[in-house]
Amino acid sequence: MTTLPDAKLFIDGKLRDAAGGRTYDIISPWTGEVVGKAADASAEDVNEAIAAARRAFDETNWGSDENRQTRFELVKKYRELFEQNRDRLAALAVHEAGAAQGAVFRAHVNMALDGWDDYLAVFPKVEWEKDYGEKEAFGSIHKRVGVREPVGVVGAITPWNVPLYVNIGKVVAALLAGCTVILKPAPNTPGMGAIFGELAKEAGFPDGVINVVFGADPALAGEMLVTDPRVDLISFTGSTGVGKRIMEQGAATLKRVFLELGGKSAKIVLDDAPNFAMEVGMTMLVFHAGQGCAVQSRLLVPRSRYEEAKAILKGAYGQFGDNWGDVDNPAHIMGPVISKRQMDRVMSYIELGKEEGATLLVGGHARPDKGGGYFIEPTCFVDVTNDMRIAQEEIFGPVLVVIPFEDDDDAVRIANESSYGLSGGVSSGDHERAVRVAKRVRTGSVSVNNGMCIAGDIPFGGYKASGIGREWGVEGIEEYTDVKMLAWPVGQAQPA
Ligand code: NAD
Repeated sequence: MTTLPDAKLFIDGKLRDAAGGRTYDIISPWTGEVVGKAADASAEDVNEAIAAARRAFDETNWGSDENRQTRFELVKKYRELFEQNRDRLAALAVHEAGAAQGAVFRAHVNMALDGWDDYLAVFPKVEWEKDYGEKEAFGSIHKRVGVREPVGVVGAITPWNVPLYVNIGKVVAALLAGCTVILKPAPNTPGMGAIFGELAKEAGFPDGVINVVFGADPALAGEMLVTDPRVDLISFTGSTGVGKRIMEQGAATLKRVFLELGGKSAKIVLDDAPNFAMEVGMTMLVFHAGQGCAVQSRLLVPRSRYEEAKAILKGAYGQFGDNWGDVDNPAHIMGPVISKRQMDRVMSYIELGKEEGATLLVGGHARPDKGGGYFIEPTCFVDVTNDMRIAQEEIFGPVLVVIPFEDDDDAVRIANESSYGLSGGVSSGDHERAVRVAKRVRTGSVSVNNGMCIAGDIPFGGYKASGIGREWGVEGIEEYTDVKMLAWPVGQAQPA
């Protein structure tokens, strides 16, 4: 049986147990068994972490202009230490987050570390100083310059689904901007947070610049960060429900909030898609058991080709077969869902889909025969209408819904009739037509003919209930800054 290293808190430069020594179990989604122990942070621990981050920001030169290059070098060194720990990162993704061996490096480790490299690469493009030129006021000419400064203490609250990727998305950007950080990973994935503390210590970050706290209670540490006036910005990735609560609770201290939330993205396959079978077949929601915020969980196909699409999907799922759910199989890309709770939730959506009148094309069952973990077979509903709850709500499991449309306008209408607006895709043999449709879809990114619109050097984020702000790219670093205007008189205005 795998055992992960104990997950320790990291507060004010020290790797520590929780005050009082409390711990909780880390449960493997593959087996339902304990694979490690994590410190269970108390309010006292979180309070110390906030105080340390505040001190490091207010009383050291961490965020200063002069320290920018040193910061950059330290973040580079930190990156090298993560490189040396690739195998441990993979083991954490597998045994904490339920990543399958065939996807773990590609989707969890490599993509995340590549994103880190992208941040380093775009860092020189951040405009720290902007010349706004001169302007006359009250008889004088004034020179105006905008300077970008770190926003201060950041509370980074992250989910369990792609924890390395999201932790890097926030921590690296905030550090490069000159902020100090308290990272609060999800209760299920404390080890993927703890490693940020361990390697920060090894890299030699000044005390308090990075802090990591986690605990069994999903809300305790996060709510403390959100409501504490010493925290300047909350960077949150997670569900829309919690995101809304963070906005409400943050209002009392007028917290800056940066939210990356849920999605129900539509892939639109237009009637002239050059390889219709491939376009339809590839939407099977199996990668990481469908637990991705940007997955295309609504497939929109022309009504004129709906029966054909059903047959293609039936064939594609048939071919995928039972080749999933084995933790040791390097070819498997699909494993369990994260927890018993999530399994119950996904299963209740499958029941709901049947009640709502959708037709189960494939799957629909839990698979306890795969082991003691949380296995649900790849599932696809057809005859779905967009007003059904299974078409509107984020299921966050291996459940695809397939909806017919009449024409381009109808496809756009269906794609947009969603409270979410994170991602999506359009496929067509006519590039101009695909781009036209993509531009009308109200989401933060749209993949045209399977173009890759998620990478560390370009911004990612949501419209509508999918979030506020942009992670990754120059924009992702700038989220952690404020702009201060400076102005000084440079001469007298000429009389008219
Ligand atoms: P979640 O909202 O349940 O939890 C996210 C984080 O918030 C966890 O660390 C949790 O402990 C913490 N939290 C819970 N209650 C809190 C509260 N009241 N105050 C402060 N913090 C609190 O989400 P999850 O189940 O961990 O992750 C799945 C969700 O994340 C999905 O909705 C998915 O779409 C979303 N997600 C979005 C993106 C994106 O970039 N848009 C990326 C990955 C995941």
